[in-house]
Amino acid sequence: MENKTLVQFFDWYCADDGKHWKRFKDETPKLNSLGFTAAWLPPAYKGTRGASSEGYDVYDIYDLGEFYQKETTRTKYGSKTEYIDAIGEARAAGLKIYIDVVLNHMGGAEEKERIKVRMADPEDRTKLGPEEFEIEAYTKFTFPGRNGKYSTFNWDHHCFTGIDHAADRGENAIFSIINEYGDDWEPLTHNEKGNFDYLMLNDIETRNPGVRQELKNWIRWYYETVPFDGVRLDAVKHINPSFFIEWLDYIHAEINPEIDVIGEFWLSDDLPVLLNYIETTGRRMRLFDAPLHHNLSEASIQKDKYDLRYIFRDSLVAVHPDLAVTFVDNHDTQPLQSLEEYTEQWFKPHAYALILLREAGYPCVFYADLYGSCYGGKNKNGEDCQINIPVLECLPKMMELRKNIAYGEQESYLDDKNCIGWTRRGIPEKAGSGCAVLLSNHQSMKLGKRMNIGKHFAGKLFRDYLNNNNDPVRIDNDGFGLFTVCAGSVSVWVPID
Ligand code: CA
Repeated sequence: MENKTLVQFFDWYCADDGKHWKRFKDETPKLNSLGFTAAWLPPAYKGTRGASSEGYDVYDIYDLGEFYQKETTRTKYGSKTEYIDAIGEARAAGLKIYIDVVLNHMGGAEEKERIKVRMADPEDRTKLGPEEFEIEAYTKFTFPGRNGKYSTFNWDHHCFTGIDHAADRGENAIFSIINEYGDDWEPLTHNEKGNFDYLMLNDIETRNPGVRQELKNWIRWYYETVPFDGVRLDAVKHINPSFFIEWLDYIHAEINPEIDVIGEFWLSDDLPVLLNYIETTGRRMRLFDAPLHHNLSEASIQKDKYDLRYIFRDSLVAVHPDLAVTFVDNHDTQPLQSLEEYTEQWFKPHAYALILLREAGYPCVFYADLYGSCYGGKNKNGEDCQINIPVLECLPKMMELRKNIAYGEQESYLDDKNCIGWTRRGIPEKAGSGCAVLLSNHQSMKLGKRMNIGKHFAGKLFRDYLNNNNDPVRIDNDGFGLFTVCAGSVSVWVPID
């Protein structure tokens, strides 16, 4: 058995030089040797902002950097050929690939239509204005650069539930589109903003059977064009869950039963809503553990005021270890981004130890922590900011520990406000495996904890693999050691020879 680890191979600010797919291909051997078993790549299709689009503002799902549309052939990340080439190489080297699938919305339509709408209250979308009226809106897509290649599906106002711009009035608001699928939003599993179906651009109407069929055709085309191992589903909380049930069943029945599924249901403070979604969709998808991310970020901000005993409180990984994709930060939570809530640098070794060295969860390492990221932008107050996310120096060592050492039965000592730890007993198949991990958020004192790692280590000497702590620890006859950790630090104790 090998520990599985995912890398998110992009951040919001990676260079828009069209060389990202090539960078990914070049990095494949390194990612492999670090112990990553899978990579999540950003959306590969053309976005409304062309060559600088991150891909989440979808324009044409069939344009993977192949057609001259939105003033560019390539995407931010490169060309279709480079994408296929990079994925082929990575998969041949044993790395699984998760593609990023954005099915909530699309934008950048070429033509306007006169459509019937009702205005929605932005804070409670279920409150629709009493009057039905007509507006002109960009709801008809023609994809002139692609000219019907791969699909001639007609995306028009029958395919959307809502839009945020009335072109004739020059007005921005949330307009609910009235068509044969209703004058309301699609049903969801929770009631944030009344009904949070509408997020941005033209919101896709999945009650339209033609849309459902087209999205099945598309994912089949995608798989046949560039085979992948998993899908990362964007913004699932804004999409009718019944669509995903049908669509994922189609994928597993008709394309590949092994396709792994990770949903992004962004809600960091309401675990029951995530659990309900998991059940509603019949456990067809894993979810990112946004609540754990929130705890990690809080712990980093509150420093020694944070009670580490509760670091997993209300997290998905505590309830569904098999369905939780744990992560420290991502392209949305990084500074200056829409869901900005990041983990401060001093706590990142702690956070990565918590997701990489324990048995529960499927961890995902963030690109910016692996490679660093420097960028500028405006903060929430509109002020210009320069951000520098440094390379997290301990990450390669953490990955080595995950790949070779962090195996076997786990005993937790989540028993002190400022110092928590756990041991892994190791497994015979992995020579040299087994470790004791200790985390501290204390600001000044070196702390210690007596932890059991198993009698099979009796008499053995352990040292801190991260070199944060110099004195070795000897295991007593009962399998206990008195492990220590410096103030605000992490130590991972491993057997010496
Ligand atoms: Ca939606």
